[in-house]
Amino acid sequence: MDSKHIAAFSSILGDGSRVLTRPQLVEQLSRDFYWYSPVLRKQLDGKTGDLVVQPLNVAEIQDLLRYCHAHDLPVTVRGAGTGNYGQAVPLQGGVVLDLALMDRVEAIEPEGVAVCQPGARLGVIENEARKTGWELRCYPSTIVKASVGGFLGGGSGGIGSVAHGNLRDFQTVRAIEVVTMEAEPRVVKHEGEAVHDILHAWGTNGVISRIWLALAPAVEWSQCAVAFATFESAYDFSERIATEDRWTKRLVTTFEWPIPSFFTPIKQYAPEGQALIFFMIASKQRSELAEAAREAGGNVSYAGHYAGLATRPLLSDYTWNHTTLWAIRADEAYTYLQCGFDPQTVREQMKSLRERFGQEILFHMEFMKMGDGVVIPGAIPLVYFKSEERLNEMIAFCREIGVFVANPHVNNVEGGGRYRADNVQLLAKKRYDPKGLLNPGKMITFESDAHAGATPTGAARK
Ligand code: FAD
Repeated sequence: MDSKHIAAFSSILGDGSRVLTRPQLVEQLSRDFYWYSPVLRKQLDGKTGDLVVQPLNVAEIQDLLRYCHAHDLPVTVRGAGTGNYGQAVPLQGGVVLDLALMDRVEAIEPEGVAVCQPGARLGVIENEARKTGWELRCYPSTIVKASVGGFLGGGSGGIGSVAHGNLRDFQTVRAIEVVTMEAEPRVVKHEGEAVHDILHAWGTNGVISRIWLALAPAVEWSQCAVAFATFESAYDFSERIATEDRWTKRLVTTFEWPIPSFFTPIKQYAPEGQALIFFMIASKQRSELAEAAREAGGNVSYAGHYAGLATRPLLSDYTWNHTTLWAIRADEAYTYLQCGFDPQTVREQMKSLRERFGQEILFHMEFMKMGDGVVIPGAIPLVYFKSEERLNEMIAFCREIGVFVANPHVNNVEGGGRYRADNVQLLAKKRYDPKGLLNPGKMITFESDAHAGATPTGAARK
């Protein structure tokens, strides 16, 4: 990047140490976990920003964006870089806007709303909330590292979703403040339905600068692992606990064998050849759950009190997309899909997939409450990757038999399966980023304003 820009950024921030130009560091801060996907690996390896800037407050974000707008510099926002689809990887170089230093939890309001800066780590919000009797409604298994801005920008749900739905449900995201990419960047607050303009838009239509996140009353939790001789009996039991209202749960995850064999640090809880379920259950229901599991033919291989994120073992470290990480460690050929099965026909759907693809697909089920209150079997199945064609065949087959797939092997908002059909994210991009400078190339239905003189996917690299 032209040295005049580097000097300008140092002068805007009044602190050259927050303008990072060392190539190794810039490369590192331009990456995320896209390498989970052999398809994205081919597309994104080697993509990097030109420099990283680290603002401390909203006024500095505005100043930086004003400069980038004036000079047609692409800007890619970064939280903690734990996204899986290359969401935070700059496709056209330019500036990486790293919000890690804007990490304050400003308030836990008495009615259970956390007010946070975007770089606040989810684990810190959880710990702060629990001090006053609240906790996160849902969080990714990357809770310790991930930022709340990145969760809203690129994530969807996780632990807690079985009871409280995903981020998009039940007004969990109460309000979002964004900074726009215009000649004179504005700070705009989105509340109620309008939060969906910004949610899961991968930082393409505004820089989230403050978040109001609804919390749930804190519960005293326990963790439990239950093994079953067959996946069918494990699935039946997990479905029962996930769907019956009387159980207070935060996590219900079911793995077929050999997935538990990948969890090397906790292999003593994974009996050879058996399916396994991991639960976070209210402590007051722990013995009742154990009893119900035994009656259903299960064997409780681990049970213990949950004392927060430092608890060991922390069963959530093996769930959601952490499962894929353990599998890749065991065999690099593993990758994954993100699915939603039909609660009525899930067994037939799984049977059809097994018949067609054999052990190329391994079932890892996660339950989530949808916005209508119905708990559905979601899944992050492991896929033994053979070729892109075979992967696409599996995705097409899933869709043919009614299994929803949010494709994690594409690098654009629209292709990922969580794009809003009413185009609200695109409409917000047109309003807030008319030149197409924010994370260019990631919202492919966007065409920049011809009068602004930018190319269809954003400005040319400077
Ligand atoms: P980043 O990766 O930094 O950013 C994600 C996206 O949001 C990018 O497009 C970025 O440009 C944009 N963004 C970041 N900050 C802002 C901002 N302030 N304004 C606008 N846009 C912004 N996800 C889940 O939903 N559930 C899971 O259970 C889950 N498990 C995971 C397990 C593993 C092992 C891994 C590697 C990933 C997992 N993920 C999961 C994905 C990811 O960890 C989460 O979505 C996480 O919340 C992303 O936060 P981050 O700070 O790392 O975001």
